[in-house]
Amino acid sequence: MIQATKSFTLYAHLYRSVVLPVITYASEIWGIKQPAKTGKSGVHSLQQTYKNCKTEVLNLLMCRYFLGTHNRSCTLAVYGETGALPVYFEHIINGARYLNRLNEGNCNALLLETFECNKLLYDEGQNCWLSNIMQHLSLVNILPNSGKVNIKFLRKKLQKDFATYWKKELNVSTQSENPSLKGKLRTYAKFKETNQVEPYLNCLQISLRKDMARFRISAHNLSIETGRHQNIPVKDRICKLCDMNCVEDEMHFLVECTCYSHERQLLYDNAQVASANFSLLTEENKFLWLMTNENRDVIYALATYINNCFTKRNFILKTKCIM
Ligand SMILES: [Zn+2]
Repeated sequence: MIQATKSFTLYAHLYRSVVLPVITYASEIWGIKQPAKTGKSGVHSLQQTYKNCKTEVLNLLMCRYFLGTHNRSCTLAVYGETGALPVYFEHIINGARYLNRLNEGNCNALLLETFECNKLLYDEGQNCWLSNIMQHLSLVNILPNSGKVNIKFLRKKLQKDFATYWKKELNVSTQSENPSLKGKLRTYAKFKETNQVEPYLNCLQISLRKDMARFRISAHNLSIETGRHQNIPVKDRICKLCDMNCVEDEMHFLVECTCYSHERQLLYDNAQVASANFSLLTEENKFLWLMTNENRDVIYALATYINNCFTKRNFILKTKCIM
């Protein structure tokens, strides 16, 4: 029922109000780990520290479940499409709230005594809960004012630092030398600017939403992606459905391939209604215009095109295989 909803906003609200309080319960204690030293930005160190944390794995699973993409779909793109934030941010915020409470002395004598022991360990430079939470705060440049952390400011700072980290990593991933990542988000980085939730997640039915998400974040089986897994050079990942001798990437599929001319005409008719200048755009700009458009009619027409063309492609390739 939850996956079938057309509203990611509702899904995210249910997740935040029902699931999140359960999975982060008492995370101010068990959820504060010793930060990894990466020598890079604060959020980069935190990502390394918590990437295998079970709450973070579940967080991404919930996002992928709604998108309908496989478990290996790129994490950065999943964050990008849903506007989701890492769940360990809640650990840190809970930890900072707890620190405030301890500093105010608003707890029992045993807890206060334990806190005093932590302070001694912290002053001696030893690893303890207090040293870990202080390192977290230091990584995002938050210093407690008279022993008190401004929680509202901390939340905003984490969100802002994550947006900067996300954009930087997206650019880095397009130039990655790691063969499993190389070029993975090359197309995505062209049209996705910020880690904000995409409008199509709040208006499409499940089958269209899944195809749209898979197409956008390269979790599909076009040659550009299957060839990457087989280590085939990019120039040799040719489209098998037309005789254009072009690389079958997202742009070829959407605005070039002659196999989908009929379906494309229907899409372009809708685009023309939304913008009278659409036909004047170059192929690349048509692609970018379609992928970034927030008009519901255009979103629906685009998702229908992707859905119909994926079906057509699978049928033709299957038939060719049998013959
Ligand atoms: Zn083609």
